[in-house]
Amino acid sequence: MSDKLTPAYDPQNIFAKILRGEIPAFKVYEDDKVFAFLDIMPRAPGHTLVIPKAPARNLLDITPDDLAAVAVVAQKVAKAGLVAFEADGVTLMQFSEPASGQEVYHLHMHIIPRVDGVPLKPAASIKEDMAVLAGHAERLKAALAA
Ligand code: 5GP
Repeated sequence: MSDKLTPAYDPQNIFAKILRGEIPAFKVYEDDKVFAFLDIMPRAPGHTLVIPKAPARNLLDITPDDLAAVAVVAQKVAKAGLVAFEADGVTLMQFSEPASGQEVYHLHMHIIPRVDGVPLKPAASIKEDMAVLAGHAERLKAALAA
């Protein structure tokens, strides 16, 4: 679905490539409508991106059904993140269009576990070590399965 407010979906965006299995990602959850994986440059341990499988550029063109499915999984991942990373809270972020700071044009919800007094790292700044991300994915998957 698109509308005059939103440019057309570009199937060559990096998250579409992850969905098609063309580039790797640390998956933490998948169902028929939603995929969730770790952000490669986490702003805190456990920083996860929840995306619809259906093509949607951002909040402005996603269908209500797909948005609802993303929201349900965002809550699951948020709760699991609190357990897996002994967090005290969670920050959710979603950017739509360049003016907001969106950089990848497939809708994604950022789910970031937060510990009291620990500030977020800057956005998209430091690529995390792959072994660290693998460990974080295992912790989140275990919490999601519990
Ligand atoms: P936004 O579009 O909301 O500004 O953020 C895009 C997010 O995608 C950033 O947090 C960035 O770290 C993350 N990101 C960019 N490229 C990749 C990638 O290839 N793999 C993963 N897992 N995350 C990415």
